[in-house]
Amino acid sequence: MNVHIRFLGGAGTVTGSKYLVEFNGQSLLIDCGLFQGYKQLRLRNRDPLPVMPHHIGAVLLTHAHLDHSGYLPLLAKEGFHGKVWTTPATRDLAQILLPDSGHIQEEDAHFANRKGFSKHAPALPLYTEADALNSLKLIRTQPMGEAFEPLPGWTARFSGAGHILGAASLLLEVGGQRILFSGDLGRPDDSLMNPPEPPPAADVVVCESTYGDREHPDEDVLAELAPALQRVAARGGTAVVPVFAVGRAQALLHAIAQLKASGALPHSLPVYLDSPMAIHTTGLFARHLGEHRLNAAECHAMETVATMTRTADESKAIARHHGPKVILSASGMATGGRVLHHLAQHLGDHRNMVLLTGYQSPGTRGATLASGSPRVRIHGQDITVRAEVVQLASASAHADASQLMDWLRALPAAPRRVFVTHGDPGASDALRHRIETELGWHALVPEHNSTWNT
Ligand SMILES: [Zn+2]
Repeated sequence: MNVHIRFLGGAGTVTGSKYLVEFNGQSLLIDCGLFQGYKQLRLRNRDPLPVMPHHIGAVLLTHAHLDHSGYLPLLAKEGFHGKVWTTPATRDLAQILLPDSGHIQEEDAHFANRKGFSKHAPALPLYTEADALNSLKLIRTQPMGEAFEPLPGWTARFSGAGHILGAASLLLEVGGQRILFSGDLGRPDDSLMNPPEPPPAADVVVCESTYGDREHPDEDVLAELAPALQRVAARGGTAVVPVFAVGRAQALLHAIAQLKASGALPHSLPVYLDSPMAIHTTGLFARHLGEHRLNAAECHAMETVATMTRTADESKAIARHHGPKVILSASGMATGGRVLHHLAQHLGDHRNMVLLTGYQSPGTRGATLASGSPRVRIHGQDITVRAEVVQLASASAHADASQLMDWLRALPAAPRRVFVTHGDPGASDALRHRIETELGWHALVPEHNSTWNT
């Protein structure tokens, strides 16, 4: 009897991660991510899965990022009623991220209908905040390193992947096969997160390749951030920083706290964290001490360096503060959220700056800004870009190509096969090539919706 893997997402793209593992009439889903970015990708979220949700026995999430978890509310709404296994910190983050995702989808649909710029009439949210809250009830937690049985006869174990709070790689043992899912791997030199744990022995590895064709520069986040923020402050401008509410927001707060403590930035420079989700996430670091690099004092400094604006009124009041300031706001690729209002307000003035942090998926506003486009469309309007656009190369939560290779090289023995996933086509193919030529292992890039024997 064979173990099959079906790549229902995260194949040929960095989003929509969903790997269906089937054996002996049972199946479970590793990750349950939303497609994001290009419209043709986002439309896949509305396609029915090739398997009935109520036939899936369990879901295991490697981490809480929406491209790995954000389809869960829809899966539950469409009939999935099994257990969803996560690490404790991933559960805490999913409780923040999934309802927010539902809320944003409701708001976007509402906004599109009000402004009449949706081609669908009426625009419907993929799922609602209530759907998301319902799906959270299915979550059961398992600590890192402890084996558990997601289905009878199937064994699974999470191990630390760095990347973000709670992020794990996952070893699945079924039908005599050990299948290792890398999840998203962090950087060994990340300023917040611990390095990924070395991988356990496996017959088959499913490995991410977000940066499969790129190396991070040696520069550290402080060295990149300081001159950019000094420059915008000196000209009296505002730095708008689209941040991923989970991870990048905290890395930047930690960095800004360090820069203020060292005198590289004036203590008086106003910093705002304008994202309820990022504010909530920042508080989780103190609750999960030991799962990241910060001690209690550093957590406190990170929590107090910025003015936390929770309500919409507090958010609007930021614009009334004239003079230099820094606004950190979600979402990180400027696909939605409060940052859109700040961008619309500030992009037209050359004194201002947009600081992009981390990977910008093709098709997102973040990628449009990074490409130097003179205009960007926000809420149905074309906005002229006069602000300086800076992309922080060092602010990635992902291992680069050589770090991915180092992680694979640490496997106790050569696996029979490596599936290279979670990358744009060029990045995945570059990593596949390196695995074949440098390690001599059999590697391939599976196509979307393809099915393989392990
Ligand atoms: Zn991730």
